[in-house]
Amino acid sequence: MAAEIAARAGQSVLLLDQRRSPGRKFILAGRGGLNMTHSEPLDQFLDRYGPERAYLEPIIRGFGPDDLCSWAEGLGEPPFIGTSGRVFPQSFRAVPLLRAWLRRLRARGVRFHGEHEWLGWDDSADRPSLRFRLPSGAERLVEYDAAVLALGGPSWPRVGSDGSWVEILRRQGVDVTDLQPANCGVTIRWSAPLIDRFAGEPLKNTAVIVDGHAVRGDPVISTSGLEGGPIYAHSRKLRERIRAEGSAQLTIDLMPDLELGTLVRRLAERRQKKKSLSTWLSRSGIHPGGIGLMREATNNSLPTTPDQLAELAKAVTFRVDGLSPMERAISCAGGVTWSAVADTLQLHAAPHTYVVGEMLDWEAPTGGYLLQAVLSTGHHVGSVLAGKGMQSSHP
Ligand SMILES: Cc1cc2nc3c(=O)[nH]c(=O)nc-3n(C[C@H](O)[C@H](O)[C@H](O)COP(=O)(O)OP(=O)(O)OC[C@H]3O[C@@H](n4cnc5c(N)ncnc54)[C@H](O)[C@@H]3O)c2cc1C
Repeated sequence: MAAEIAARAGQSVLLLDQRRSPGRKFILAGRGGLNMTHSEPLDQFLDRYGPERAYLEPIIRGFGPDDLCSWAEGLGEPPFIGTSGRVFPQSFRAVPLLRAWLRRLRARGVRFHGEHEWLGWDDSADRPSLRFRLPSGAERLVEYDAAVLALGGPSWPRVGSDGSWVEILRRQGVDVTDLQPANCGVTIRWSAPLIDRFAGEPLKNTAVIVDGHAVRGDPVISTSGLEGGPIYAHSRKLRERIRAEGSAQLTIDLMPDLELGTLVRRLAERRQKKKSLSTWLSRSGIHPGGIGLMREATNNSLPTTPDQLAELAKAVTFRVDGLSPMERAISCAGGVTWSAVADTLQLHAAPHTYVVGEMLDWEAPTGGYLLQAVLSTGHHVGSVLAGKGMQSSHP
């Protein structure tokens, strides 16, 4: 996005990536539907960034959800609003949008060089220069008037970003907080029978509760804990709690549409003598994975009265020991601190260098908030560069 805006203003732009082709994580993000942004009112939207709203608000107001939708439409992908207000490109996926975008960049003279691994700055050169490693092992120096780092977070490293930039920036004197998984699953020590029977099973239409805050959705039982949207939504809170106390508590309401009293009555009505407890719970609307969790939480000693069973089904509670590894997270927390950059997102500690996207220290839940902030920061820096009268200096 920074390249697009700078090139539109006539700047000479070179785009370099360590992968052979650009936008691999963007393509991955589009696999289950590219949720570009969200249609909720802007004030509510901005609240999703938590304390980092203070830094991101002017940037997102400069290029917000409506602007992003117009941009996608301009690339032949008019947006549509899906369930719960999430916004997707017309084709749902990322590839058609990315193809159209790269065509536009090429038409504006942006040149792309793949297989260039950024190694840092060359301090011995007369002019600001970046060092890149080529596949042959040789190094290439690229002089610049302005450099924009958009190196991403280390989740799903096989699509490109591995976080190796953290040490490079720290060596340069840039303040970077440790990168940690965000929008990720949690680890819970399940028993072998639960894993055998229910790993991979979604808990349809349940509510996941942490610190009294409930998020509805379909969490999935994994071999090492729980995954899925409502778990990701709690990952910030859980990470903070685990850091402070070593573990955290997570509660699942298996029947969030029923009041406790209604569930007690339903269980009482649907009880059948001679039938198993599992059949009784199942006839009362609790799915098998949910029954498995109820057994797990009680060490396979389920209560037997409608009152006790309803209470358990409305609040099955587990101890969370940790978060799933970074490799499988959707995004990351931590990164270049806001005090390390100016309002323009230019680094104080490196010459004419800007930072955008997930490299910056912010986090947000899934729902389109990630790509929106990533693209808004790119647009912000692109606009700063567009306003500068720079000389073309690329080889
Ligand atoms: C499975 C999955 C699904 C997602 N779905 C959504 C979604 O639906 N909606 C949403 O808003 N967000 C989603 N995201 C998050 C979103 O994809 C990221 O937030 C976004 O791609 C981050 O953009 P970025 O430009 O900061 O970094 P990236 O997209 O990671 O790009 C960084 C680029 O830098 C390159 N690079 C890294 N290090 C170097 C180096 N040393 N030298 C040269 N090049 C380097 C990488 O190869 C990569 O191409 C999803 C993420 C995942 C993993």
